Amino acid sequence: MCSYDLHSHSTASDGTLDPVRLVEKAHAAGVAVLALTDHDTLDGLAAAAQAASGLDISLIPGVEISVTWQAMTIHVLGLNVDPLNQTLSDGLQELQKIRDWRAAEISSKLANKGISGALEGAGRFRKGKILSRTHFAHFLVESGYAASVRDVFKRFLVKGKPGYVRSEWVSMERALGWIRQAGGLPVIAHPARYSLTRSKLKRLVGEFREAGGIGLEVVSGSHSRDEILHMAAVCREHCLFASCGSDYHGPEKPWVDLGRLRGLPDGCIPIWEAESWPAVSAV
Ligand code: AMP
Ligand code: MN
Ligand code: MN
Ligand code: MN
Repeated sequence: MCSYDLHSHSTASDGTLDPVRLVEKAHAAGVAVLALTDHDTLDGLAAAAQAASGLDISLIPGVEISVTWQAMTIHVLGLNVDPLNQTLSDGLQELQKIRDWRAAEISSKLANKGISGALEGAGRFRKGKILSRTHFAHFLVESGYAASVRDVFKRFLVKGKPGYVRSEWVSMERALGWIRQAGGLPVIAHPARYSLTRSKLKRLVGEFREAGGIGLEVVSGSHSRDEILHMAAVCREHCLFASCGSDYHGPEKPWVDLGRLRGLPDGCIPIWEAESWPAVSAV
């Protein structure tokens, strides 16, 4: 089991636990070092840090940035970013605007299919500034259009479906620039989720490294055992540090839980052994 969990979400983006409850739950589950990495926002970090300071758990301030690379959405984690860095906050604000634009588009596309009020409906599920497809999914389930969040994604919110909107997020170079300016360590999140061919994955990793990226999320709540071994090999081949994170979004998604992550495979160099990793206690 891994005592590090370097990828999680709170109500500041599309998680269902607020930052304080998230930290408490991670602590109770035996996590020693937790990174809060909400989508395109730093809003939950102050409350999470404060909660962690009263408990025997270290909080790594993080973010999960939506990047467009070769017309695909790739998620890049910034670990140990300075939550007060202006370049990073300004950049994330741009992404929040793109999210608001996309949300309005999703809503009007759904309205064309006879589903009205989606923007307001999704808005009722958001607790922070970020509007995510997850909020639309909750609205569509509540309104009886689908049985589960998974079902909604399949039927409405992915490419080729009525509520899908392609959006242009930020480039890899800019996202990594923001992360590095904020003193953070860039890590590609859940690399096996993008269904990349081997050559495309190689190209992604190559461009990521050139832009200053240093880590790959080898162990993810959504990776199978084979995917973990594959990504460990990619890490070794490209001299990247390996990270592990659950991508926890709350107790409603029982297939990913806190404190239950596998350890990194042999031969990986953990990101917490990087020179620039903060001095935090892991026991
Ligand atoms: P967004 O960044 O707003 O496009 O939303 C992406 C989020 O939707 C991801 O971070 C996941 O939390 C969630 N998500 C994506 N695909 C699925 C899926 N198939 N089932 C459940 N949740 C999903
Ligand atoms: Mn999410
Ligand atoms: Mn992600
Ligand atoms: Mn995530």
